[in-house]
Amino acid sequence: MTSLAPSRFNPSRSTSLYGRSWRGPFYGGRGGHHQVKWTPDATYSARSAYNMFFQGSERFEGAKPIWKAWAPLKVKFFMWLAIRRRIWTADRRHRHGLTGSTTCRLCHQEDETAEHLLGGCTFTKQIWHSLLTTIGIQNPPSIADQDFMSWWILLRQQGLSMQQKKGLDTAVMLCL
Ligand SMILES: [Zn+2]
Repeated sequence: MTSLAPSRFNPSRSTSLYGRSWRGPFYGGRGGHHQVKWTPDATYSARSAYNMFFQGSERFEGAKPIWKAWAPLKVKFFMWLAIRRRIWTADRRHRHGLTGSTTCRLCHQEDETAEHLLGGCTFTKQIWHSLLTTIGIQNPPSIADQDFMSWWILLRQQGLSMQQKKGLDTAVMLCL
């Protein structure tokens, strides 16, 4: 018997591999085991073991545009942090007692939040407009009606090929 269930996956139960099947302990009082079906036929494979690590995990919508783009790694990390609202914008610095003002330094009209910097700021909107006009995307969706990630996903659904999507992703990331 080989125990393959990592402790962080499900610390209260153990799932083990018996032969070529996933099994867990039986709590009915008679001993034995019940079969855990990680795959439709409960057959073990390296893929089923690998996929078991992601049970219950949440899918990040921006993963593909960010990590598949032709941008330097530091740009990808910055974009990932920005979309997760983990960059040090004025509102965040203010929460941590690092600054007294939360006003955006670009437009001086609203609070500087990650969402504002990515798409709500008039300065940023001008940059997106210039970029999209330059690369030939006509009638892009309005960024004012949605959050940045939803806007970016809509931009990618403009009938572009895979290479064009990758180019768009790279351009968006390098503009930040
Ligand atoms: Zn602004």
